[in-house]
Amino acid sequence: MNLIEKVKHAGIVGAGGAGFPTYVKLQSRPEIYICNAAECEPLLYTDYYVIKHHINDVIKGLKLAIEFTGAKKGFFAIKKKRKELFPLIEEAIKSENAESKISLFELGDYYPAGDEQSLVHDITGRIVPQNGIPIDVGVVVNNALTLAQIAWAKEKNEPVYKRFVSVVGEVENPFVAIVNIGTPFKALIDHAKPKSGTVLIEGGVMMGNVKSPEDVITKTTGALVFLEENNPAVREKTASFESVTRFSKAACCQCTECTVLCPRHNLGHKIEPHMIMRTLNYGLDSSSYIAQAAFLCCQCGVCSMFACPFGLSPKRIYAYFRKRLKEYNIPAEQHKADPFNEEKKVPTKRLMARLSILHLERKPEFIGEFGYNGELTIPLKQHIGAPGKPIVKEGDKVKKGQQISKCEEKSLCVPVHSPINGIVKKVTNNFVIIGS
Ligand code: SF4
Ligand code: SF4
Repeated sequence: MNLIEKVKHAGIVGAGGAGFPTYVKLQSRPEIYICNAAECEPLLYTDYYVIKHHINDVIKGLKLAIEFTGAKKGFFAIKKKRKELFPLIEEAIKSENAESKISLFELGDYYPAGDEQSLVHDITGRIVPQNGIPIDVGVVVNNALTLAQIAWAKEKNEPVYKRFVSVVGEVENPFVAIVNIGTPFKALIDHAKPKSGTVLIEGGVMMGNVKSPEDVITKTTGALVFLEENNPAVREKTASFESVTRFSKAACCQCTECTVLCPRHNLGHKIEPHMIMRTLNYGLDSSSYIAQAAFLCCQCGVCSMFACPFGLSPKRIYAYFRKRLKEYNIPAEQHKADPFNEEKKVPTKRLMARLSILHLERKPEFIGEFGYNGELTIPLKQHIGAPGKPIVKEGDKVKKGQQISKCEEKSLCVPVHSPINGIVKKVTNNFVIIGS
C-alpha cells in the first residue's frame, strides 16, 4: 500500500475538528505543507500534550507528507506562548533530518490563529480566494495530531481508534487524556467533576457546540469544555434563532465593530457582518453579495463573542443564510488583505476576559490512556463525506484496531475501527456498539 492507501485505510481525518479525510489532501501537489499546532481556542491543551509526548511522530508525519506530495517546504506553526515546547520541536526536526525541509513558525497569541486561511496568510502572505481552500494557493494544512496519525499508519499500520482530548473549564479536575473513540462523554465527566449548573461544549469555547453527556468521543473531538450556563459563549450557542433575530432588530446600532474585527473581512473577503444585520433588520436586498457572504463566514464567533458590544450574533445569522442559500455558487476571486489586518487581530487574553473565562486558564494534568471498560458507541460517520457501511454483525468478536466499516468505491469516506478486543453488541446504519 502507498501512503494514500495506508492513510485512507487507517481512517485518518482532520483531528483539529474539521474531519476532512486526510488521504484527499495527500493527493494534491502543494508547494508548502503546514503543521497546524496553533490551538487557538482558549483553555485547550490537546495539541500541547500531543507535541510534548509525540513530537517525533508529528515531525515524521509532516516529513512524510512533504516528501509524498513533493512540497518544497514545511512549516510547524505554533504560538509563541508555547515557547517551552520549542526546544523539543527543534530537536525533533534535527533528529528526523528535516532541517532543510521544516521550519518552526511562531504565531502571535490571537484568535483565530489556527483558522486555515489566517494561518496561510500569516506564514506565506498568500490569500486563499473567496470560497477557496488553501491548495488554491499551493498550500496544504494538517493538524499536529493528524500528522502523527499519518506516521503511525505508515510505520505501524495503526488505524485511528483513540485520540487526545482536553477536558477543561469549570471542572474540579481538568485533564488531558488519550481516549478511545466511542467512549461516552459521561465517563470523562465523572472524572473531571464539573461544577453543578454548567453546560457541556464539545470542541471549544468559540466554535464548539453544546452537547449531551450521552454523546461519544469521535475522531474530531479535541475537547470537552464546561462553562457556567450564563456565560456569554453559552448564551450565544443556546439562544433560539427567534431571540437572536429579535435582539438584533432591537439593538443593532450599525456600529460596524463586527466588520472591523471579522478575520475573513480583514483578509479582504467580501464579508461585512454589520451588513447582514442591516439586511435582516430592515429587509434590504438579500440576493446581493451581502447574503452570499454567508459562504465566506468561518463561524469563528469573533463578531458575536468579542466585537459586538451587545453580544448580537451575525455568526448565527450567517449560519441561517448559509443554510438557505446553499444553491448559490460564488466564483472565486483574488483580493488583498486589509492593510490593518495585524492590528485588528483579537488577542486571546482579551477574548478570554470578554468571555469571563480568564480564571479558568490552568494547565490540565496529562493522565495518559483514559481507563474505561464500558461499551463503546462507534459512529460510522465521523468525517466530512459519506458514512461507511458496517461489516460486522451482532455477536461478532472483534480485535483492537480491526476495521468494522467499509466505504463505497470512489466515495469521500474513511472506515472506522474497533478500539478494543470485544464483542459487537449492536449494529445500525449509523453506529456500532462494542463491549467486552
Ligand atoms: S463568525 Fe463573525 S467574525 Fe467570524 S468569520 Fe463569521 S462574520 Fe466574521
Ligand atoms: S457590532 Fe453589534 S451592534 Fe455593531 S453592527 Fe455589529 S451586530 Fe450591530
